[in-house]
Amino acid sequence: MRRDATSRAGDQSPARPRVRETVQEPLVGEGPARPRIERQAVTRVFDGITCYEVPARAALERVPEAAELPFAWGASPYRGCEAGCGYCTARRGHRYLGLDPGGDFATKIVVKTDLARRLRRELASPRWDGEPVALGLTGDCYQPAEEIYHLMPGVIRALADAANPFTVLTKSPLILRDLDLLRDAAKVTQVGALVSVGFVDDRLRRAVEPGAATPQRRLEVCATLNEAGIPCGVLMAPILPLITDSTDHLQATVRRAAEAGAVSVTPVVLRLPAGAREWYMRWLEREHPGLVPRYQALYGKGQVAEEGYRLRIAEQVRALAETYGIGRDARRWRRRRSPARQLALV
Ligand code: SF4
Repeated sequence: MRRDATSRAGDQSPARPRVRETVQEPLVGEGPARPRIERQAVTRVFDGITCYEVPARAALERVPEAAELPFAWGASPYRGCEAGCGYCTARRGHRYLGLDPGGDFATKIVVKTDLARRLRRELASPRWDGEPVALGLTGDCYQPAEEIYHLMPGVIRALADAANPFTVLTKSPLILRDLDLLRDAAKVTQVGALVSVGFVDDRLRRAVEPGAATPQRRLEVCATLNEAGIPCGVLMAPILPLITDSTDHLQATVRRAAEAGAVSVTPVVLRLPAGAREWYMRWLEREHPGLVPRYQALYGKGQVAEEGYRLRIAEQVRALAETYGIGRDARRWRRRRSPARQLALV
């Protein structure tokens, strides 16, 4: 969904893009070399981006404990993400679809075209107890594909009609397209947003978050949401060890989040699950080869940095947030599983 040549990453562009599209019907049973998803989906290609349209097998998905996020449940219209952040932990999902979590992640997007309908059904189930739902954990729910598919309005309406609390996670200004819907939903349930801003250095953003809006633009989105009455915090994710974890980096990010009126700041140190690890380490070897042994010491063979390091970062961010007055009125999240998480939630 590359927009026309005048579009830039970070533009808020409510207009539908002009796209060239080709369509391929599902080819059930075709050769084993084809990715599994390709044999099950209707495939459309928009200006070089392949979209696999599939029915949602389940709308509500458990958030893995290892994600260390303050949500137990998530729902996402998309798998894969054009922003193509080098560290994205959602990359691993592509592996299960028979796709390359590296190169395919930003160019082959799974689209759950009936997500809203499926979500309505699951929210109405007597087994569902109305827990808060996070939107956009397997791919930004306001990525460029949303300009074509318009799935989020249906998802927001489904949650609002069920009066089910939810939080939208995004790096995209496109969320402002749905501001009125979010405000309507906030009249009947708890609605929040988290914009992800791990650092505010735009040169670094171009290197590791090539398709994402600038940190400045994201913070403007945060400010606009808060001014409109949608409580929006900053997910400081990820903090890149030895790259964006200096006091200067942390301070600049927390200060700018405070200036944007963020209601909370939640630091998340880089996680390196399989899929993300290979891709990120390849970048690190290329751009910062001297840091590779230090990462190996910090992560070992695991996917999270050693606990002492994570606790130190969480404490630093907590202290900075206090200095800048963030979170004094922030609501407390319901789920707190680990000491690291308790410190991380401000
Ligand atoms: S914007 Fe979010 S979902 Fe998309 S690639 Fe970046 S981290 Fe992943």
